[in-house]
Amino acid sequence: MFELTGKVALVTGGSRGIGRAIAVALAKQGAYVAINYAGNEAAASEALAIVREGGGDGEIVRFDVASQTSFEEAIDDLVKRKGRLDVLVSNAGIAMDQLLLRIKPEELEKTFATNVGGALWGAKAAMRHMMRKRTGRIVFLSSVVAESGNPGQAVYSASKAALLGLTKTLAREYASRGVTVNAVAPGFIATDMTAGLPEDVKKKIVEQTPLARIGSPEEVAAAVVYLASDEAGYVTGQVLRVNGGMYV
Ligand code: NAD
Repeated sequence: MFELTGKVALVTGGSRGIGRAIAVALAKQGAYVAINYAGNEAAASEALAIVREGGGDGEIVRFDVASQTSFEEAIDDLVKRKGRLDVLVSNAGIAMDQLLLRIKPEELEKTFATNVGGALWGAKAAMRHMMRKRTGRIVFLSSVVAESGNPGQAVYSASKAALLGLTKTLAREYASRGVTVNAVAPGFIATDMTAGLPEDVKKKIVEQTPLARIGSPEEVAAAVVYLASDEAGYVTGQVLRVNGGMYV
């Protein structure tokens, strides 16, 4: 089940956190994994080393997902060398938390350029190759707050909600070309992104989570592996929530 041998995957923001767990999990199923990173080469190399320790293979590739041309060049180069791109996981994301009255234009622009632009440009660049092969899997990392909202996260939650619209629209546009497009919406997951939250905030989140604990990056990665697999061939335009029941 969920065998990915012979497939080529690209995971954005794959050097740490959820992205790293996704890269490791896809490789464990047999996929060759290109691990994108923005700047931390040491972390990306460490992720690749873990992939290789698990018996998998891949490469690291540096580019900014907000740059359409860089994204396109990276995908074209990968396809030129490996002959295909089967799976694109748009995981790279940022959060610049702020109450509405304090939000600055540059925070809106940067968050949308990374979270929404990064997903859209990646899908555009990947789609041309996937359409040609009449098969492909695109997975966007949204968030529980896209659907539930969260005080202090107006810009972030709006960007993650935008990904749900993108998921549903691209699913409809490219189903006839054999490409599925889905979103995974994690709840509260233990990564660098959430490590800085005050203990009382974390405690409150756990109290509001029916499964009464924080999730792990590996639990999110398992959902991505499923959506990337042949077994998920009849699933498109969906939001797979990995949130401990926080939002149902
Ligand atoms: P993280 O901050 O640990 O990792 C995000 C990665 O994206 C980093 O490696 C970062 O360098 C990379 N990145 C950021 N901007 C980039 C750019 N312009 N180009 C290339 N790479 C870039 O975060 P995480 O917790 O692992 O989150 C991964 C994804 O899951 C994000 O999209 C996040 O919004 C989403 N998410 C996380 C949680 C959570 O609780 N941790 C919950 C819901 C959704």
